Amino acid sequence: MPVVVPAVAVVRAAVQISAGAVTRRRQVTLKPVKFAPFLVIIFVCLVLLTACQRDQEYSANLFVFGTIVEIKLWGASQEDAERAFSELQQVFQGMHRDWHAWEPGRLVQINKCFEQGISATADPNIIEMIQRSQVIEEKSGGRFNPAIGALVRLWGFHTSDYPIVGPPPTQEQIDEILAHKPSSRDIEVDGMNLITDNPAVQLDFGGIAKGYAVDLTIRHLRDMGITNAIVNAGGDLRAIGNHGDRPWRVAVRKPGGGNIGSIQVMGDEAIFTSGNYERFREDQTERYPHILDPVTGWPAKDIASVTIITDEGLPADAAATALVVAGLQGWAEVATALELEQVAVVDESGTVYMTPQMKQRIQFLEEADHVLVEVGR
Ligand code: ADP
Ligand code: MG
Repeated sequence: MPVVVPAVAVVRAAVQISAGAVTRRRQVTLKPVKFAPFLVIIFVCLVLLTACQRDQEYSANLFVFGTIVEIKLWGASQEDAERAFSELQQVFQGMHRDWHAWEPGRLVQINKCFEQGISATADPNIIEMIQRSQVIEEKSGGRFNPAIGALVRLWGFHTSDYPIVGPPPTQEQIDEILAHKPSSRDIEVDGMNLITDNPAVQLDFGGIAKGYAVDLTIRHLRDMGITNAIVNAGGDLRAIGNHGDRPWRVAVRKPGGGNIGSIQVMGDEAIFTSGNYERFREDQTERYPHILDPVTGWPAKDIASVTIITDEGLPADAAATALVVAGLQGWAEVATALELEQVAVVDESGTVYMTPQMKQRIQFLEEADHVLVEVGR
């Protein structure tokens, strides 16, 4: 019988202890809980699963970005686990403050400066997100573009309350923004300063921040000497090491519910999914999902979800968004440009398209209707 010990020591400003939440299975979903709504309240719980000190799993739930980020450690001492969770709680609060696209904070200030054509100061994490985005935007042919914050706002996706009910914006409103062709590559980085001469550039890290947050969490744990961990942000996750004598294992869910199978996470890997069916606007006739094609200004529609396995969260997160935009016709080409190997795409009818490398990774529960697609050639 597991002994459940709430770690009161690590719950300072925070708040609620929930043992139930930490006992859920790790899952990678073909549509994760959405990142964008940031919540300030963080709660932490600690579960001790066995009595022997280093042979146990410690887990904490940090509730941030509108998503429960479940962190599990294996082989760490209780003292290190408590310290890690406490420090990460602070780190997450900083991310919330600095990266939020519409709540007052550093990113909102930066976007105001961009509108006014004046220079803004950023911190190293924002600089890294911009510089890496610039490369991914270029490689993905502009499908991933975190400078389209004005479009995301126009569609009403700067909210935590879904679904949004109401008609889409007018073509005229969309064209007004598109006329300026906002791009992350319009931003000039000079040390810690940012400037752009394009007033339509508005940063929105919704498509990348969860990936980067997971990477920073892993970096923090490693710096503390922790070598076995899994960080799961609503189905988007990265793992290092193992769970004692077995790999970390995650379930792969279907967009419509249920599981396709499971994946064993080997060493240092990230698994990220983007989808079009959880966060959307809708009117009487149609649904308008929250991932936008930066070229047309309209939501990307024909892919239900994209799942990517690679070695880091940030590129996996960005690439998953880019492939949804690329659509059924274009995803393989963009996957090649982004040098991805392990990719699964599910279309609106439930057909799974995947690379042979991805097929090898999924232990299917039952024969899934799938098509193999080679990328990288
Ligand atoms: P999810 O994990 O919920 O499927 P994504 O990681 O794909 O979401 O990110 C979607 C979010 O990214 C949107 O809510 C918006 O904030 C932003 N976004 C929308 N379209 C794009 C795009 N083409 N490129 C970059 N960011 C985008
Ligand atoms: Mg993404």
